[in-house]
Amino acid sequence: MEGKMLEHITASEIAGYAVGSLLLSATISASKIDSFISSSQRSSLGMCKRCGDLKLIACSRCRGSGLIKEGGPFTLIPVVDGSRGFGVKTKKHSSSPSCPNCRARGHFSCPDCD
Ligand SMILES: [Zn+2]
Ligand SMILES: [Zn+2]
Repeated sequence: MEGKMLEHITASEIAGYAVGSLLLSATISASKIDSFISSSQRSSLGMCKRCGDLKLIACSRCRGSGLIKEGGPFTLIPVVDGSRGFGVKTKKHSSSPSCPNCRARGHFSCPDCD
């Protein structure tokens, strides 16, 4: 009896993992397919190839977020403080610096549609 129960739990857990990974891979492939189709549809439908008639282009530098998450060339470097022994004094709690490329808007107006 106990053996059967254990078997059942294990099987359902495995099924759960399988379903989870399946859903995950399905989601990833779906988004890939979607982007592929939409890009080819745009040209076939005569939509703007740059923005897909959204009149907006997502900023490539901040990926449309308007904020730069990575430090870029000025990545925070841990500096050894001689008086304290060690410390990460340079590590400011930078509150997501705004993107200078798009002025924190995350997008540009499409030059093709203007
Ligand atoms: Zn456009
Ligand atoms: Zn930007």
